[in-house]
Amino acid sequence: MRQGQIERIVVVGGGSAGWMAAAALANAAPRECRITLVESEAIGIVGVGEATIPPIKVFNRLLGISEAEFLRETKGSFKLGIEFPGWRREGTRYFHQFGSFGREFDLVPMHQYWLKMRHEGDDTPIEDFSMAWALARRNRFAPPVSDPRMVQSTHDYAYHFDAVLYGQFLRRYAEARGVVRVEGKVADVRLDAESGDIAGLTLDDGRTVDGEFFLDCTGFRGVLIEGALQTGYHDWRRWLPCDRAIAVPCAHGGDFTPYTRSTAKAAGWRWRIPLQHRIGNGYVHCSEFIGEDEATQALLADLDGAPEADPRVLRFVTGRRKMFWNRNCVAIGLAAGFMEPLESTSIHLIQTGIMRLIALFPDRSDNALARREYNRLTEAEYEHIRDFLVLHYHETAREEPLWRHTRAMEIPDTLRYRLDHYRACGRQVAFGHDLFPNASWLAVMAGQGVEPETYDPIVDKRDTPFRERLAGLKRLIHEAAERAPDHRTALNAVMDAAS
Ligand code: FAD
Repeated sequence: MRQGQIERIVVVGGGSAGWMAAAALANAAPRECRITLVESEAIGIVGVGEATIPPIKVFNRLLGISEAEFLRETKGSFKLGIEFPGWRREGTRYFHQFGSFGREFDLVPMHQYWLKMRHEGDDTPIEDFSMAWALARRNRFAPPVSDPRMVQSTHDYAYHFDAVLYGQFLRRYAEARGVVRVEGKVADVRLDAESGDIAGLTLDDGRTVDGEFFLDCTGFRGVLIEGALQTGYHDWRRWLPCDRAIAVPCAHGGDFTPYTRSTAKAAGWRWRIPLQHRIGNGYVHCSEFIGEDEATQALLADLDGAPEADPRVLRFVTGRRKMFWNRNCVAIGLAAGFMEPLESTSIHLIQTGIMRLIALFPDRSDNALARREYNRLTEAEYEHIRDFLVLHYHETAREEPLWRHTRAMEIPDTLRYRLDHYRACGRQVAFGHDLFPNASWLAVMAGQGVEPETYDPIVDKRDTPFRERLAGLKRLIHEAAERAPDHRTALNAVMDAAS
């Protein structure tokens, strides 16, 4: 065995973050490495994360979990994107699709031809060129095909699922691969007097758990990263002022949509996420503009079916830790930071945190280089997502106090830069490894009503028959969507095929 290799990793917390991390580490950590997970049933988990983005498929695949098994175990459904009613103003709606808008047919980005048509008075929305939306609006689903010449290759998908069931499933997976679970509440975190690193944990019944490297997956508490290491937190409420959510599941009613619906409300927004056995609902809001009771009543009055549990209130401060990896501790999940689930990014951040940790796996040295790189990449990822969320709030014509506030607020320079480019002539800029591709930014900018002054002048120099191409694209997408099965049939076919 290498001299410098760590042999004991301790994961603290058994929510989605803890069990996703334990399952992945059970798979990828060196054979000699023992993994212990400490969790406290008395404290419980958040467990309301239900909507995801496409890379979750990669995570499951890397763990060798089949789609059929995953959907059965988590009572999951398919997700082609998010519909945003009311965000631009009451009565409007748009769709943020997974995948691109049709296919590029030229050296010039296809959306520049769409912008030119708009300038000529054609008001076809950009989503009419999205395969994902064509399926979603019909409540149909088909996975993308691999032939890039077909429009059915241009969309992508993710899942809605029950996060509690996913955690239980991953627990069985991890325990079968040697992860040892310890039930107990961490009462004290012991620091090494010399190095300041975490040396071990003391549980409230006096037992101790020692380790060489620690993952803080204790949720909003941040027992290790904040409680013990006092890492500090960047508060982002000046850009994302919502600080509460009411969550309540209800019985099925309405459409079994293969997409999330996130509807803007007077003091925040409301999510609707259909699973196989129920619908997940929530109202994310800003406590400065609405009380918890009023928000709860508003949510309960707006359900598709009977509530299946008491409404839960979740309080949060949007932002991130000043360091995600501090000393011999990496914070993953809510312990690392939180941004509201407007674009379903929290579980994804858990996934990328884990993958990054595996790529920069620590040893017995001080890991200074790995730590710096981990923090640099994670910081960039958080800020990218933050900008994307802020865009939804800032570019709005809604008139309630929350929205007047977010319209008037100063926005991050990075978002201003993107908006300036788009406003000038519809150009999209990227900052390296961006999670959300140009097509996502375009969907939200167009949907929120950001209008470029003109289109890229290069379009006028080309003689591409773009009107015919765009019309043809729209027709092909429409025809392909009409042939797809409805959501529930598609879901059952996937789950039955492998049973
Ligand atoms: P938790 O679920 O809070 O788990 C913390 C764990 O730490 C628990 O096991 C607890 O017992 C343990 N623990 C804490 N203190 C101690 C202690 N002292 N000793 C021992 N154990 C301890 N994400 C998405 O991707 N999509 C969504 O649609 C989505 N919606 C959300 C909506 C809301 C309102 C909120 C708040 C979050 C949402 N999320 C969503 C985020 C998602 O729920 C979380 O990212 C995910 O559940 C991970 O939580 P966690 O494991 O970090 O923390």
